[in-house]
Amino acid sequence: MSSNPFVTALNSLYVAGEIAGTDPDVVKLLSQPKLVMEFTIPLKMDDGKVRIFNAFRVHYNDAQGPVKDGTRFVPNLDVDTVKALGFWMTIKHAVAGIPAGGGKGGIRVNPAELSEWELERLTRAYIRSLPLKGAWIDVPGADIGTNAKTQAWMLDEYEQIVGYHSPAAINDKPHEVNGTVGSMEATGTGAFYVTMEAVKDLGMANDASVAIQGFGTVGGVIAKLLYNEGFKIVAVSDITGGVYAQNGLDIEKLQKYSGETGSVVGFPGSEPITNEELLEVKCDILIPAAVQSVITDKNAGNIQAKLVMECANGPVTPDGEKILEEKGITIVPDVVTNCGSAIVCSFERIQGLTDNYWDLDTVLSRLNERIIKAYKKTVNTAAEKNTSLRNAAWVNALNKLSKAIKMRGWV
Ligand code: NAD
Repeated sequence: MSSNPFVTALNSLYVAGEIAGTDPDVVKLLSQPKLVMEFTIPLKMDDGKVRIFNAFRVHYNDAQGPVKDGTRFVPNLDVDTVKALGFWMTIKHAVAGIPAGGGKGGIRVNPAELSEWELERLTRAYIRSLPLKGAWIDVPGADIGTNAKTQAWMLDEYEQIVGYHSPAAINDKPHEVNGTVGSMEATGTGAFYVTMEAVKDLGMANDASVAIQGFGTVGGVIAKLLYNEGFKIVAVSDITGGVYAQNGLDIEKLQKYSGETGSVVGFPGSEPITNEELLEVKCDILIPAAVQSVITDKNAGNIQAKLVMECANGPVTPDGEKILEEKGITIVPDVVTNCGSAIVCSFERIQGLTDNYWDLDTVLSRLNERIIKAYKKTVNTAAEKNTSLRNAAWVNALNKLSKAIKMRGWV
């Protein structure tokens, strides 16, 4: 089967739609995005030459509220990936009880190749080029290749265009410019809370071994939290390669090392492994926290973990999932594991709209409450319907979306 992430997302829709008994017209509507925008951004580079960048924004479905979420700056971005990500955001918001639709966008660019000034101009041009934007229409957040700094530029550009302050128009901005505290750590922290609950449910010990693919915003945060809790992190990787230590890596030292060298590779006291090998190392918990479609029918048979926590979006293809299920491996799906940022973005929106800013303890305790509720609801539906956690999460989401779509009279 294809490793196209949109095909993966559609597969979840069709399977869960059958289990939930979703109206076929709702399934038909949800099998396509509401709006796909593809545009070009010409940018004068620092050397005076012009480069044309391809950019995208998808509004997948807005039955539950204004669309919101991530902006990905990567060199290989394509429209099907953006569609899949927008669809997953739609489902995540429904799973986490957030009154928002799903959106996603980005630019085909390697930000590391740009100067700071080029990146700022490109980011601002992206916001200027979006035909539909604002707190009640579409709220762009961060994703791979974007961060608090790009989000601050986006906010500033938007506010300059409209001529007034509107902090709820952009997500994942720094708290100094009316963002929320805890925003960049939200996904890794939420995934950590869910992992602790899944570990309890599976009767695993708190010193279980863990392998993590991706050591960025999400992978780095969950690695540190699990390490602090006593878990043995045996393998970690980034785009340049991975490191392995049977007795566990010192994550604090590794973070310092990769911060200084730009990569985990070569960390003293570790053995080198490839990203492919990392997925197959002997461990109890495997955490794909980098990119989509990394566990497929080609390597699923070799996965040794008992629990897969999907921190990345769509890391397991449907064919790969079938094999993992046959092996009795539990998968906690992306739409539950990594919905922490969706939850905290909704907190950021509430704070921006009310001008009432919360402290970190409030953000984290509300995140914990919300994400554990979503996980438990998923576990209950899975038991009730005798199905996987992924199908259960999608069934719960489809039931909600279906009601909103029908009440609006769309089908
Ligand atoms: P990031 O850019 O901060 O980090 C990505 C990490 O993965 C880096 O260590 C990078 O070197 C590594 N990587 C990139 N491409 C790789 C490849 N082909 N093979 C192996 N490693 C690779 O991104 P992030 O924000 O941590 O996001 C990671 C994943 O989590 C993505 O799939 C993203 O969509 C998903 N996610 C992120 C958030 C969030 O709040 N940041 C929320 C939900 C889902």
